[in-house]
Amino acid sequence: MRFVRFHAGGNTHFGTTDGTHVTPFVPEIASLQAYLALAPDERSAIPTGEPLALADVELLAPVMPHKNVFCVGRNYLAHAEEGARAAGVELKLPPVPTFFTKAPTAVANPGATLHLDGTITSEYDYEAELAIVIGSRVRDVSEEDALAAIFGYTCLNDVTARDLQRLHVQWFKGKSLDDTCPIGPWIVTADEVGDAQALDIKLTLNGVAKQDSNTRHMIFDIKKIIASLSRGMTLEPGDVIATGTPDGVGFARTPPEFFANGDVVEIEIAKVGSLRNTIAIA
Ligand code: MG
Repeated sequence: MRFVRFHAGGNTHFGTTDGTHVTPFVPEIASLQAYLALAPDERSAIPTGEPLALADVELLAPVMPHKNVFCVGRNYLAHAEEGARAAGVELKLPPVPTFFTKAPTAVANPGATLHLDGTITSEYDYEAELAIVIGSRVRDVSEEDALAAIFGYTCLNDVTARDLQRLHVQWFKGKSLDDTCPIGPWIVTADEVGDAQALDIKLTLNGVAKQDSNTRHMIFDIKKIIASLSRGMTLEPGDVIATGTPDGVGFARTPPEFFANGDVVEIEIAKVGSLRNTIAIA
């Protein structure tokens, strides 16, 4: 199933979509977290409203996380290599995932214009990522049981201010500016995605292919990411984990490429969907 959050008739709704229509749940269930708070057998009995044409509603990020978005850095070998090359340093792969976070205020909607502040940086870059959406509360989950904690998957663009990422040493600031975390267009449930380590992941900028890889190339796979992150730390329903980006990002290109006003950036992940945003820098 595919789950959406959207604006229609002046209200925010949560519901499902078949790709042409959206069917809202009752107003009491207006978010993923409200949906997941119900027992599994109660979820299938939630009353719904009349279906609306998908084209007539404004899609929102399908989940609004209640805490920072978790991210894994340098999780595709070819991206780790291009980053080391661009920085002129020797590639050293970490023995455990490199976790960092993005502020929830950075979250933006699918299809939306990203209003980026051009007074603080001119080095906005894209990163196509498969995002995990957590469905159940877990801690110390084993790799064997990790996949059962997943509700579904969506696309996420880990837009990054490259100079700030380096300047502040910790990546948080350069990863958390407003409108730098578009998520969507919907959450596809884990059962419908199947093997999430076999998905083509692509990014185009103004129609030109920039990233083209497959989730099988992750250094730390999804079960390892969840097992590692949940060790001694509780994951909650509605938490989002971005699983890293493949090679082809702008800063590692020769010469480096960064977003310009009016750019259209689109991520496409097989079986999950496509996330398209327009860039406005002022
Ligand atoms: Mg990233």
